[in-house]
Amino acid sequence: MQKKTKLLIIGSGPAGYTAAIYASRALLDPILIQGIQPGGQLTITTEVENWPGEKEIQGPDLMTNLEDHAKAAGTNIINNTIVKLDLKKYPFLAISDNGNEYEAESIILATGAQAKWLGLKSEDKYKGFGVSACATCDGFFFRNEIIAVIGGGNTAVEEALFLTKFAKKVILIHRRDTLRAEKILQERLFNNPKVEVIWNSELKEIIGIDSPLCVEAIKIENQKNNKEIEIACKGVFIAIGHAPSNELILNQLETHNGGYVVTKPNSTETSIPGVFAAGDITDFKYRQAVTAAGMGCMAALEAEKFLSE
Ligand code: NDP
Repeated sequence: MQKKTKLLIIGSGPAGYTAAIYASRALLDPILIQGIQPGGQLTITTEVENWPGEKEIQGPDLMTNLEDHAKAAGTNIINNTIVKLDLKKYPFLAISDNGNEYEAESIILATGAQAKWLGLKSEDKYKGFGVSACATCDGFFFRNEIIAVIGGGNTAVEEALFLTKFAKKVILIHRRDTLRAEKILQERLFNNPKVEVIWNSELKEIIGIDSPLCVEAIKIENQKNNKEIEIACKGVFIAIGHAPSNELILNQLETHNGGYVVTKPNSTETSIPGVFAAGDITDFKYRQAVTAAGMGCMAALEAEKFLSE
């Protein structure tokens, strides 16, 4: 199937859906392709407490609300994944995993980011067998066990707190002696009797058995005295940040700071006119749901201006 559209939005996080709401209201008839994880990263979190107007809302509920809003505004939402994007052609060409082709006069890239891994051999070996990057997906498997969480940002602290619901004990291991996470989250972490924090330490190896494949312990190294110790645990959650999901645009758009799409100052315009980027694919600084939504709004307004010119 081949489809022509004035505006193709790729991605279904807060940036994509907000762009869709604005573009639909501007009567651009946008098509939004949801991607492999409809709703994006917020669908694998629990409570969101910093979305204005909602004191507390579950991440998946927030994304369902945004999707409903975009649909109600008139967006054509398609549950597919774009696997190829050609930005050298104009109109731009996007091909989805089921072979559909979309010819688009403008594009808003809102493909977000994905969890980073440490890159250890043993991490790879036990992925899905005790090693995870998603507490809400896999925490349940570690009832009454000891779990290690690696990282010191908001994700690590939120995951550690969430895991205390299941675990006997959660050990947060951070490479420095201060956390990067919001102060309110830090306070909750330090006050939780199930949590122990090990400072200045890096994960060196995950130790386990082959039959059945599972984790038994981790080896960590203290950065101050280079001493290595082993800690018994059944689960290891890696929460060391996120990298932009930029596979579609590599070698086509200018990127910087580890693969984030470059946009013009105070704008979502990329290095190719008619292609806009919003949310975690371009934002290496704020990376919040509400800033992503703000950028989605900017991108839709800029796409509208581009199309009318
Ligand atoms: P961050 O980049 O904020 O934090 C990553 C953490 O992992 C840092 O503490 C970093 O250490 C550590 N780290 C990075 N690389 C390594 C490594 N190779 N080995 C060991 N440790 C490592 O990522 P997050 O995923 O936590 O958050 C991403 C963004 O999303 C942030 O802007 C955050 O505010 C936002 N976010 C907001 C939430 C909310 O508002 N509720 C929830 C979750 C995320 P170091 O500190 O030494 O650099």
